[in-house]
Amino acid sequence: MNTNIEVKDRLLECGVKPSLQRMAIMNFLVKNPIHPTVDLIFTELYPSIPTLSKTTVYNTLKLLEEQGAIHSLNIDEKNVRYDADISNHAHFKCKKCGQVQDVRLKDTDSIQIANADKWLITECQIYYKGYCEKCRNEMN
Ligand SMILES: [Zn+2]
Ligand SMILES: [Zn+2]
Repeated sequence: MNTNIEVKDRLLECGVKPSLQRMAIMNFLVKNPIHPTVDLIFTELYPSIPTLSKTTVYNTLKLLEEQGAIHSLNIDEKNVRYDADISNHAHFKCKKCGQVQDVRLKDTDSIQIANADKWLITECQIYYKGYCEKCRNEMN
């Protein structure tokens, strides 16, 4: 699998000019499906891209989100998390270690809401919070 080609295609499909920095940020998100924060992305990429600034990372993520290439999550009250997986899925955040994991919904169509026929819904964020397996075991 050549992630670079896929990343470039995704950016082009979303109408984003694939500059080196944008490609690097998108690539990081695809390769690290841990829902990273702006700070983490900057810290990880800065050593290989010394011209990168935190503002660039932030602005790039904002652009990528606006163009539909990535999703942002507000599951973490302190930091926005970013996700390159734009398929329909929910998230689980561990209240102890803070990690955010993907939750695969069995049948998203089964979530019934009252105004589904009146509204055109373009976005849905479902969050679960609790303790991950590791933290749960440590508590016992
Ligand atoms: Zn945990
Ligand atoms: Zn996710």
